[in-house]
Amino acid sequence: MRGAILYAPGDVRVEERDRPSLVEPTDAILRLSAACVCGSDLWPYRGVETYDGPIPMGHEYVGIVEEIGADVANVKVGDFVVGSFFASDNTCEICRAGYQSSCVHRVLMGSLGSQAEFLRVPLADGTLVATPGMPEPDLIPSLLAASDVLGTGWFGAVAAEAGPGKTVAVVGDGAVGLLAVLAAKQLGAEQIIAMSRHEPRQRLAREFGATDIVTERGDAGVARIKELTGGRGAHSVVEAVGTQESMMQAIRSTRPGGHVGYVGVAHDVQLPGEELFFSHVHLHGGPAPVRQYLPELIDLIWSRTINPGKVFDLELPLEQAADGYKAMDERSAIKVLLRP
Ligand SMILES: [Zn+2]
Repeated sequence: MRGAILYAPGDVRVEERDRPSLVEPTDAILRLSAACVCGSDLWPYRGVETYDGPIPMGHEYVGIVEEIGADVANVKVGDFVVGSFFASDNTCEICRAGYQSSCVHRVLMGSLGSQAEFLRVPLADGTLVATPGMPEPDLIPSLLAASDVLGTGWFGAVAAEAGPGKTVAVVGDGAVGLLAVLAAKQLGAEQIIAMSRHEPRQRLAREFGATDIVTERGDAGVARIKELTGGRGAHSVVEAVGTQESMMQAIRSTRPGGHVGYVGVAHDVQLPGEELFFSHVHLHGGPAPVRQYLPELIDLIWSRTINPGKVFDLELPLEQAADGYKAMDERSAIKVLLRP
């Protein structure tokens, strides 16, 4: 089968890889309908994150079950399924508490590489959620978004305690940030402030429910949020970047007693203890337990209540994965969908 492999920073190739086969009786093999490039794939692509290359790439996926192991009971061959970037048993104490991305048996899907034609999914019963039937083709991008960026933005908004009567600010205008805006809207937030300086992304943020746009960053961005919130700061702030600047911007934009939901993968972020102590801000975040939200998100997509697939503004055949990485690295595309 064909699959994307990262050889070195900036060097992604689509090559012949071994087609995966069942290893454990709890595995399923999927024929992938669509895959995509994630903002977090850019960390190794840019050489910020090191790895023992060459490595298969991709951790977002939707597809049709091709084969199941002897112990798989919840999905069957022919089902259309959505999974997320950590395989989880969905039965352990941590999963049942809603933190499937910290499941005691979790498997990071990135190591299996979903930018490919086929994918092995461990712990299929806990990981995969079948859709009510075969989706219309135009629903596939939205279902794929549920696999990571929507689920992650959703967790960011939940962790920030977005809800009715709340002002929510979102730091980061990548796909996760934009979908955190959508999530805040669905969760009933009253005012939603998107921080973005890119016109096409501002437009999408407004379409997803943003009421205000802030183009300033850093201290100026914080000052602008304060201005928009009667000097107090937002109740809820979603951090969807993962840098020192974005994290501090999020914390300083939050009012005392407010909540930061941080879902940008942190890189070299150092929190100042004393400032945090006196801020009275709650911090909650980490790798999103997307699995927890999948049934609800699939329902919202299936009923066409939400259209998160709009974050895909470039679609390429899998063979051109390298162009997709380049477009996201240069920020000429928000998110790239790959067709195997
Ligand atoms: Zn578990």
